[in-house]
Amino acid sequence: MKTALVIGAGPAGLMAAQELARAGVTVTVAEAKPSPARKFLMAGKSGLNLTKDEPLDRFLAAYSGGVQIREITREFGPEAVMEWARALGQEVFTGSSGRVFPKAMKASPLLRAWLRELADLGVTFNTRWRWQGWQEDVLKFDTPDGVKNITPNATILALGGASWARLGSDAAWVPWLEERGVKTSPFQPTNAGLTVAWSDHMTKHFGAPIKPARLTAGATDVQGEFVISHRGLEGSAIYAVSKALREGADLFVDLVPGRTADDVATRLGKPRGKTSLTNHLRKVLKLGPAQIALLQEFARPLPQDAKDLAALVKALPIRHAGLRPTDEAISVAGGVSFEGLDAGLMLNPMPGVFACGEMLDWEAPTGGYLITGCLATGRRAGRAAAAWLDR
Ligand SMILES: Cc1cc2nc3c(=O)[nH]c(=O)nc-3n(C[C@H](O)[C@H](O)[C@H](O)COP(=O)(O)OP(=O)(O)OC[C@H]3O[C@@H](n4cnc5c(N)ncnc54)[C@H](O)[C@@H]3O)c2cc1C
Repeated sequence: MKTALVIGAGPAGLMAAQELARAGVTVTVAEAKPSPARKFLMAGKSGLNLTKDEPLDRFLAAYSGGVQIREITREFGPEAVMEWARALGQEVFTGSSGRVFPKAMKASPLLRAWLRELADLGVTFNTRWRWQGWQEDVLKFDTPDGVKNITPNATILALGGASWARLGSDAAWVPWLEERGVKTSPFQPTNAGLTVAWSDHMTKHFGAPIKPARLTAGATDVQGEFVISHRGLEGSAIYAVSKALREGADLFVDLVPGRTADDVATRLGKPRGKTSLTNHLRKVLKLGPAQIALLQEFARPLPQDAKDLAALVKALPIRHAGLRPTDEAISVAGGVSFEGLDAGLMLNPMPGVFACGEMLDWEAPTGGYLITGCLATGRRAGRAAAAWLDR
């Protein structure tokens, strides 16, 4: 009998298990946490964004970290993800920005249906099984019943990245793979917030959204929204520029993306009499208190000249102290390098051991690209492992 052990029950591991089981392999999933897919469930808290409904070329262009991630995701792109969710009885809908969600919004109904399907396929789950590395060729686990040694015919590592460690992905595995000659890159935050050392003036604006806004960092230019928090700035538009910021670009915010610089200058140039500059900004540009506070925070004293002030409103330089720590990031860059993997995501130095999901060195913005990439790499690894067992 052919046996495979999938370590890690996130979306990548579950997809690998599904493919292996469909190919007739006897599959066990080992998961360190008491229950599967905790990060996937957390992702569903604010609406599980499964994928992005947009032309495939534009979709694939969102991925970076090597051609492999694009090739793999091309085989299981937005259409396939939507079809997969529907096959599990979960209708999906496309929001205005192209983001695709299950109608239920949460992850739990989809996960329940998926786990039922895996159980029907004969997949066995061992939770509270924490993999501790290899001894010779034997996989060692800490389990509620003591140490277990396992030697499956094929192993699929789906251990996640290095953020939100409390949900399971703690990257403890990095040295174990490096010792075996597997090339990895250091984990770094991506889709992360920014740290800002605010002055006391900003306290009353914590929690305030800034929208619409246009953010520019190097070649990255996004329109969206973000939130002022006590730690700094967070939210989808900030996440979208976090890769560029990590790579050293400066950040500029356009507080009135719907108006040209000339229009802003003309409006600011209107006589204001005894009106304060703050009230003038509010009246002629409809800026809210939080937007004006941001302007003051980063550009005080504000210039009196309309053109100079307009230039700041259109491109406010944001002083920050870098990205928030990796553990707080939505996802990470870094991990197992594609250079050390074959086309089926098998580790070159370790025949029969495959890797998939966020533990691989690729990155993408939020918008459903992450879960799609995890499902696609899980599918590729699962299929390749089944073929390898059949060789
Ligand atoms: C707050 C938040 C919201 C998000 N929202 C979205 C979204 O809407 N759309 C989207 O596309 N992406 C989203 N993401 C990202 C997405 O959830 C992850 O990219 C995805 O879950 C990664 O899947 P994975 O299977 O590779 O790893 P994970 O989901 O991290 O799963 C890895 C599993 O491996 C287990 N494990 C680790 N080490 C061991 C070990 N030694 N022994 C046994 N088991 C182990 C872990 O416990 C975990 O269950 C979000 C992330 C966060 C934090």
